[in-house]
Amino acid sequence: MNLQAPITDGNRALKMYARRLEKLGIIKFEDFLFHFPTRYDDYSLISKISDVQPGEVVTVQGKITDIKNQYVRSTRLKNIQKAVIEDETGKLELTWFNQSFLVKNLPIGADVSISGKVELSKKGKSIKSPKYEVLYNNQTSPLHTGRLIPIYPETKGVSSKWLRRQIHNIIKETLDEIQEYLPGDLIKKYNFPDIKQAIKNTHFPTNLTDAKIAKKRLAFDELLLMQLAANVRRDKWNKQKKGTPFEIQKFDNEIKKLINSLPFTLTASQDKAIEEILKDLSRNKPMNRLLQGDVGSGKTVVSAIAMFVSFLNGYQSVLMAPTEILAEQHFKTISNLLKPLGVKVGIATGSNKRKGASKKGEEKKLNASDLMFKPDILVGTHAVLHESIKFDKLKLVIIDEQQRFGVAQRGVIREKGENPHLLTMTATPIPRTVALTMYGDLDLSYLSEMPKGRQIVKTWLVPPIKREKAYEWIKKQIKETKSQAFIICPFIDESESMQTVRAANIEFERLKNEVYPELKLGLLHGKQKAKEKSKILEEFKKGKYEILVATPVVEVGIDIQNATIIMIETAERFGLAQLHQLRGRVGRGEKQSYCLLFTDNDFAQNSKRLKGMETLYSGAELAELDLRLRGPGNMYGTTQHGIPKLKAANFSDTQLLQIVKSEADRLFDKLSNYPKLLEKTKQITLQEVSPD
Ligand code: ADP
Ligand code: MG
Repeated sequence: MNLQAPITDGNRALKMYARRLEKLGIIKFEDFLFHFPTRYDDYSLISKISDVQPGEVVTVQGKITDIKNQYVRSTRLKNIQKAVIEDETGKLELTWFNQSFLVKNLPIGADVSISGKVELSKKGKSIKSPKYEVLYNNQTSPLHTGRLIPIYPETKGVSSKWLRRQIHNIIKETLDEIQEYLPGDLIKKYNFPDIKQAIKNTHFPTNLTDAKIAKKRLAFDELLLMQLAANVRRDKWNKQKKGTPFEIQKFDNEIKKLINSLPFTLTASQDKAIEEILKDLSRNKPMNRLLQGDVGSGKTVVSAIAMFVSFLNGYQSVLMAPTEILAEQHFKTISNLLKPLGVKVGIATGSNKRKGASKKGEEKKLNASDLMFKPDILVGTHAVLHESIKFDKLKLVIIDEQQRFGVAQRGVIREKGENPHLLTMTATPIPRTVALTMYGDLDLSYLSEMPKGRQIVKTWLVPPIKREKAYEWIKKQIKETKSQAFIICPFIDESESMQTVRAANIEFERLKNEVYPELKLGLLHGKQKAKEKSKILEEFKKGKYEILVATPVVEVGIDIQNATIIMIETAERFGLAQLHQLRGRVGRGEKQSYCLLFTDNDFAQNSKRLKGMETLYSGAELAELDLRLRGPGNMYGTTQHGIPKLKAANFSDTQLLQIVKSEADRLFDKLSNYPKLLEKTKQITLQEVSPD
C-alpha cells in the first residue's frame, strides 16, 4: 500500500466515503494514520460473566444464546433488541434500542465480545447499549471491545467504529514502511518512542501512559516541522535577489505633512508599526512583514503611509483586498487621503474589468495595463492578479486580510514587480507564540491598542422569549438616536440551509412587512452584482434605509459611522472570529453602539462561547476563549482565519512551543544531514497555510 496515494485509489467503500473523509482532512492513506483519537474508552477489563459487578465497565466474551426484536408502541422508541450472552460461568442480558439489524449481525450461536457498564435490574445483571463485535475463528484480539478503545473525531456518516477498523488495517499493512525522520539524538534526548511505536500507541495503546508519550512525540513533530518550514521560507526569502531600498529621510517632511493632515492622531502602536515598516523599506532586502491588528485598529492608514513613501520614491504600489466592497472602500479612503498630494490612485475589481470591456470610457479607471493610465497605487481584488495587469515599477505589495488569499496568489502578485517589498495584514488575533511558529519567517508588527475614544460595543445574547422585546427596543433606538441598524442572517435563501436557519431574503420580507412596516429596510447579499451591492451600501450610508438586512458579506471592512446596532440572527452558527468581525461593523462613530446576538436554540443560550461575546471585546481575548472551549484544532474558527488545524499539538502549550523553536533553530543549519527530515519539511512548506 502506498501511503501517499489518494484514498480514492482504494476499495469501493473508500471511494464512497471520500467526500465525507475529506471533511476530516483525510485525503491520502497516510492521513488516516494522523487522524488521532480525542480520547479512549477503557474496556480493557475482561471478565467472566459470573464475576461482573454492577457499576463496573467490563468486557465479557461468550456466545449469543438468544436475540430478538421487541416492538414498542406509543413512545418515541420504535423497537428494542434483547439478547443473552453466555459463557461457561453464566448469562448476562443485553439491551439495545432501535438497532433491529443486530438480530442479523449477532445471530444466535455467534461468538461475541461485549463491552459496557453493568447494571442491576430486577431480572439480574445486564448491560444497556453495549459495544459489540463478533469474534471470528482466526481473530486473536478484539478491536472495538476488550481494550483501550480510541474514539475519533467523526463526521456525518463516518463513525469512530468505522475509522477504527480502517486505521487498524492500514497500520497492520503499512507500519513496516513508515520510516523514522527525527534525528536519533533528539529521540534519545526526549525519550521519545520511534515513529512506528508512536503511531501505533496513539491509536491502539495498551495503557494510557504509552498513549500520552506517543502523543507528545507526535505533537513535537508537528510543531517542529511547522517551525522548520518557516525557517526554510525565511532562508529562501533572504537568499533571493536584492530588493530596492527606499529613501526615507529625504522625504521626512512630506511624510510628516501627511501624518499631520490626518483627522486624528496616530496611536502609539501605529507609530511604531510605521517606524518598523519604514526601516524595512529602507533596506536592500525586500520587506516581508505581517501587520496584525484587531478589527478597527487602523491598519489601512498605516499601509497608506507605506504606499505614499513608495510614491515619493517614484515607485508603484498595489493593495489587494479579498472582496469588492472592501476594495472599493480602500480605493475611496486612499484616494481621499493621497490624491490631494498628487498621487494617482486606480482600482481594479472583477466588475470593473467587465464593465471596462464593454464601455470604452471606463477602461481607464480600471485597467492599469491600459497604458493611458498608470496609477501610482492600484487598489483591487484578486482581479489585480490578472495577466492583463502589468506594472512598470511595482516595488510595494500590500495584501489586506492576507489569510483569505492562497500562497499561490500571493506569489503571483509579487511576480508583477521585481522583488517588491511585501506587507501582509490581518485582523486574525493569532497569539504571539502561535505566530512565531506559523509565521516564523515573517517580521511581525502589532497594533495592540484601539484609537482613542472608541467605545466598546455593548453586547447581549437575546433568548427566544425576549425576541419581540428586542425588536421593539431596536425600533426605539433607531427613532430616538436617529441611527441605523444591521440585521445579519447566515444565508441568502432557505434552500442553502437547514430550516431552522433564518435566511436573509425571507427574513427581509418578514421584517419589512410584519415587524418594521413603518421603517425603511434594504437587503444586501453576496449573490447581488457588485454594482448593486455598492449602490445599496452607498444608500445605506446616506441614510436611505434605517435597517440593512444582510448576509455576512458585510463581515470585512465596511465602515458606516451612523450604524450603531448590529443584530445577528442564529448567532450560534457563527464562529467567534466571525462574530467579532461582524460586531466590528458598528462602534465606529461617537455614539454608543450595540450588538444583539439572537438565537432560537435553547442550548445556545447558555453557551459559554456566545456568552463570551458579552464580556470580551478584543479579538485576542476571544481567541483565547475559543482555544479553551473548543480546543486547539478548532481555534477561533477554521483555517479560513489563517490558523492551521493542529492534529496532535496544542498551540496553548507554550512550553513545548519554546522547546520546539530552539530545536528547530539548532537543526536548521544542518538540515541537509537529515534527508528524511528535510523531505518531510518540504512537504509541509508546499502546503497552503490558508486555503480560501
Ligand atoms: P482595520 O484595522 O480594521 O483595517 P481601518 O483601517 O479600517 O481598521 O480603520 C478603522 C477606522 O478607524 C477608520 O475609520 C479609520 O479612519 C479610523 N482610524 C484609524 N486610525 C485612527 C486613529 N489613530 N484615531 C482615530 N481613528 C482612526
Ligand atoms: Mg481593514
